[in-house]
Amino acid sequence: PNKSRVTVVGSGNWGSVAAKLIASNTIKLASFHDEVRMWVFEEVLPSGEKLSEVINKTNENVKYLPGIKLGKNVVAVPDLEHAVRDANMLVFVTPHQFMEGICKRLVGKIREDAEAISLIKGMEVKMEGPCMISSLITQQLGINCCVLMGANIANEIAVEKFSEATVGYRENREIAEKWVRLFNTSYFMVSAVQDVEGVELCGTLKNVVAIAAGFVDGLEMGNNTKAAIMRIGLREMKAFSKLLFSSVKDSTFFESCGVADLITTCLGGRNRKCADAFARNGGKRSFDELEAEMLQGQKLQGVSTAKEVYEVLSHRGWLELFPLFTTVHEICIGRLPPTAIVEYSQS
Ligand code: NAD
Ligand code: 13P
Repeated sequence: PNKSRVTVVGSGNWGSVAAKLIASNTIKLASFHDEVRMWVFEEVLPSGEKLSEVINKTNENVKYLPGIKLGKNVVAVPDLEHAVRDANMLVFVTPHQFMEGICKRLVGKIREDAEAISLIKGMEVKMEGPCMISSLITQQLGINCCVLMGANIANEIAVEKFSEATVGYRENREIAEKWVRLFNTSYFMVSAVQDVEGVELCGTLKNVVAIAAGFVDGLEMGNNTKAAIMRIGLREMKAFSKLLFSSVKDSTFFESCGVADLITTCLGGRNRKCADAFARNGGKRSFDELEAEMLQGQKLQGVSTAKEVYEVLSHRGWLELFPLFTTVHEICIGRLPPTAIVEYSQS
């Protein structure tokens, strides 16, 4: 019978954990080939060795997920075309800013019957308006694309602590269930909802709220203020999502991809951490500098997402409707001081 072949496009912090999760299932389930290919954006380590070679030698992503064995059936592949060639299930998990270039390189290189899922939190803004990453994949590659989002700090899942996640799908429930089977484990509980835009917008927009929560932490304003910012942020997430797509369901905000991801990211995420440092420095050190220093190659999504959201809001004349989203961007670019997060976001 036709067994499915899975390739993970991306090998950062979450990409590596996703490959580990998936590989633990493909080795057990008869409907999947054991081997999981993982595309590695090649880099040379300080030792002079290539990252992909070290991953294949040690079974660890020593740079982005040190100390965790990925599973013997994970194979790191530095050549993108070779990585995707045989796969009919493509899992996209790179920082969102690289996806447009990756899609361009993949045109004509993937199987015609391929299905995709995006674990990427972010969006692109084009002349025509905002474009979610799953739509970018569908438009550029001509394939269906589900999404998987949730309260999923990668390092916690890497050590198999329990969490939940949400698969968003458009029409085909059977495909969604296949993705659930691929990802679901005893410590990673996945459920599917028919609201691809709602799930993806939750995952994307909560990164902007996490920046705001980090500012509040850096200013040492306490838990009540932080909770207030999270509440206002959640309300803006819902309003923005519904303005963009009237199909977005209220119930999606109560799934793991909604309120749960918002909470975990505002407590323990990288966006929160860097925004905390930004506010403690009074906005005098840029996010680019802090990201490079604090994340060692990992990438922030919230700062660029705040800019992308701002572009949509200003283009549509909606800035006043979204004081928190607007203020986050204006603080990030130095137009307002970090203290503005509380003064300007009240609504
Ligand atoms: P990461 O933040 O670890 O990013 C680093 C990755 O980007 C590395 O694999 C690096 O090789 C790659 N990279 C650097 N320059 C590149 C280029 N020019 N082209 C292509 N790739 C390049 O990545 P991540 O944590 O796997 O995040 C990927 C997505 O998953 C993001 O959208 C993120 O929001 C989302 N996510 C992350 C987590 C988490 O806890 N890390 C959890 C859930 C979702
Ligand atoms: P950060 O990128 O802020 O670490 O958030 C990770 C995440 O998306 C958890 O679900």
